[in-house]
Amino acid sequence: MSFEGYLRRKHEMEENNTGFDEETKRKIFSNANGRCEYCGVKLVFDNHVEGLVGAWDPHHVIPKKDGGDNSVGNGAALCLDCHKNVHASKATTLAFAKILSEKRKGKKG
Ligand SMILES: [Zn+2]
Ligand SMILES: [Zn+2]
Repeated sequence: MSFEGYLRRKHEMEENNTGFDEETKRKIFSNANGRCEYCGVKLVFDNHVEGLVGAWDPHHVIPKKDGGDNSVGNGAALCLDCHKNVHASKATTLAFAKILSEKRKGKKG
């Protein structure tokens, strides 16, 4: 496994062990209209493995270690590429949280 693969796996396990339940994942997915909330690519709900069409991860907008919870509101649907980018550093995670909160504020309903 590549180093990147290892990091990804590690992150996946960290998120999944303390992560969103199935129902919450479905809500996150439908709130995102089935699209990556960063790049807008179309996602496939059941696909979570790299290489599959529309593979995605539920992401904690506020990381759990920073007080984020497993609520729908703290979840975002991200394709695997964007999820990787968002987790590139603490700064990128925060930047995405900010973008997303602006986006959601602007959205009516
Ligand atoms: Zn994306
Ligand atoms: Zn994440």
